[in-house]
Amino acid sequence: MKNAHTHTHAAPAPHRTRPPRLDWGRLAPSVAQLRQQGCSTRETARRLGLNIKTLEAHLRRHRIRHAIPMDRPDQVRRTCLNCDSAFVADGRFLRLCPECRAMFG
Ligand SMILES: [Zn+2]
Repeated sequence: MKNAHTHTHAAPAPHRTRPPRLDWGRLAPSVAQLRQQGCSTRETARRLGLNIKTLEAHLRRHRIRHAIPMDRPDQVRRTCLNCDSAFVADGRFLRLCPECRAMFG
């Protein structure tokens, strides 16, 4: 006799709660504009109604594609302590991205 428990394919499970796909083609200009105005990643995400993690992931992908070559040994890739965005620091002890340095400086 066949097992009656294996009929799971008949009714597809409800979709897992995933964030909706974002139209980065439309969002990217707004993101770039806000960041040019000096908004941190956090602030940019808030203004555009985005999840901070979603925006960070997008920025990370974007930055990797346009990565600055590391040609100086005293330049260090860092993650900003304040806004978590990636940047290339001029020295080992620099822990804030240029935007945040301008904000706190
Ligand atoms: Zn920062």
